[in-house]
Amino acid sequence: MASHLRYRIGTKSHVELIISDITDETTDAIVNAANSTLLGGGGVDGAIHRAAGPALLEQCKKIRAQRGSLPPGQAVSTSGAKLTAKYVIHTVGPVWHGGEANEPETLASCYRESLRLANELKCASISFPSISTGAFGYPVHDAAQVALRTVVEHLQQPRSVILVRFVLFDSRTHDAYKVAFEKLRKDSPGLQVRSEPL
Ligand code: ADP
Repeated sequence: MASHLRYRIGTKSHVELIISDITDETTDAIVNAANSTLLGGGGVDGAIHRAAGPALLEQCKKIRAQRGSLPPGQAVSTSGAKLTAKYVIHTVGPVWHGGEANEPETLASCYRESLRLANELKCASISFPSISTGAFGYPVHDAAQVALRTVVEHLQQPRSVILVRFVLFDSRTHDAYKVAFEKLRKDSPGLQVRSEPL
């Protein structure tokens, strides 16, 4: 299966699904699946802090001193420090507790709030990892549906952000997002989505 998939959304936006390391991204912003402390952690959070260098942690510490810990579903921005991306948007996904604790709403809020900040920062492009599907245990097929629906709905009205790239770390996660995209297209014929050759 091709690992770089591109879809046209509405009149001028695109969603891409790729397998890669998000720290290598050249989009204007990348999103960090952070934890509430904002002080770094494992998984994608650890990788982003390692690649960005100590200046990223310093900014996170300042934000934490000003506003305390970051609740799930919210997002804050910093510069990209040593990364190619200009900005890192830090959001805290929900920990999976079986699906009855507002996990889908909180996860959708992560994507919406990150996109809202990226638009405020005048970004044209943003990369997301698969938020919550690592250490936080959210089942990847369910998370992929929430992620893609939220992003595709957001892109129906083009704003500053016109490219959303999902940077997925392994083929299992990439497959789940591909399946979720096809399901979204079938279930929501009103959404303007079509595959585009690269
Ligand atoms: P969470 O705590 O939100 O579950 P994790 O970092 O544990 O976050 O995992 C989220 C997803 O990010 C998982 O699919 C994991 O494989 C993936 N991931 C880990 N490192 C990277 C990376 N460098 N680039 C992109 N995705 C990554």
